[in-house]
Amino acid sequence: MSEIYDATVIGGGPAGMFAAFYCGLNQLKVQLVEALPQFGGQLTALYPEKKIWDVAGLPGVKSADLVKKLEEQLQLVPVDKFTGEKVTDVTKEADGSFTITSGDRISHSKAIIIALGNGAFKARPLALPGVDKMVEKQVHYFVRHKEDFAGQRVAVLGGGNSALDNAQMLAPVAKEVTVIHRRNNFRGHKLVVDELQSTANVNLMTPYLSREIKLTDGGAVQLTLRKMHSNDEEKTLTVDAVVVNYGFTANNAALRDWSLDLASERNQLTVDTSMATNIPGAYAIGDGVHYEGRTPLIATGFGEAPIAATAITKLLYPERTVSGHSSSLDLGHK
Ligand SMILES: Cc1cc2nc3c(=O)[nH]c(=O)nc-3n(C[C@H](O)[C@H](O)[C@H](O)COP(=O)(O)OP(=O)(O)OC[C@H]3O[C@@H](n4cnc5c(N)ncnc54)[C@H](O)[C@@H]3O)c2cc1C
Repeated sequence: MSEIYDATVIGGGPAGMFAAFYCGLNQLKVQLVEALPQFGGQLTALYPEKKIWDVAGLPGVKSADLVKKLEEQLQLVPVDKFTGEKVTDVTKEADGSFTITSGDRISHSKAIIIALGNGAFKARPLALPGVDKMVEKQVHYFVRHKEDFAGQRVAVLGGGNSALDNAQMLAPVAKEVTVIHRRNNFRGHKLVVDELQSTANVNLMTPYLSREIKLTDGGAVQLTLRKMHSNDEEKTLTVDAVVVNYGFTANNAALRDWSLDLASERNQLTVDTSMATNIPGAYAIGDGVHYEGRTPLIATGFGEAPIAATAITKLLYPERTVSGHSSSLDLGHK
């Protein structure tokens, strides 16, 4: 058998990245395997420009910057990193180790940390005729670079935190931002709604639903909006870009194809207080995990990562003293 890792972290979102760092800190031989071409999970793929306010010690950190910091932290310890490798199968061997198939590569590991989030994520589409040919041109499901919208008239569709966050982020660069939601009340944070209401170039349009979308001769987008609970009262709105934030569907189907009979509840893995699944040596952390009271936040995954890494260290190297903190290591001089 080729070399065997102590730990393999599957999924390079914030939880998986921090878990790989912590395994390295505990001197485990570790690899981090991510399906997408880049690390960062939802932060990189869905909201790189958004500011995050609820990571301890880093108030108002931009998502992309938090991922950069996690990457910097990963450089401090030896971790083999693989991107663009979707894990398609994990098998438990007779000796208790795991065989992992990712892309064209087969690797072996004594323990695994599953950090898949909610699996592959996909934006809920705007289901109107003609939208498909406008996607990534006039219609966007993600705001990757807010500068792309500089000076534009932007319609943001949706009433949750993503729509409100995007409106708040785009307002300083866009010419005007119109948030269109089919209910009178937004589902997102009240503070953000209040701030948007008092922002000069932001208009909150409720309760309206997009009924038709078409391109004008000049290449702008014309939206026909129907007022909810009215007698077909309609308005038209002409904008340069439409950002659709109708939420995301997540797909953890990959797990069901693995040769592991992992216990789950509502499609999320069941774990004990050491983040162990029902399969010995297999741990799970992050948004793909279920236990009573879990809150799906970056900070929660950050807390679970050292628990799993430390449990694996104790399992594989019971003779080692796991101090639980890193202050004695001079990592800055690596
Ligand atoms: C719009 C939006 C705004 C948010 N704002 C905040 C906020 O302000 N504060 C906050 O704390 N949280 C926020 N969240 C939630 C936060 O993003 C998640 O809690 C966090 O990303 C979970 O991290 P994770 O590492 O568990 O999973 P993810 O970030 O989902 O990462 C999982 C990774 O696993 C990879 N993967 C999946 N399947 C495989 C496979 N088979 N093989 C290899 N890799 C695989 C995925 O590609 C992904 O990169 C927000 C979420 C959204 C959608």
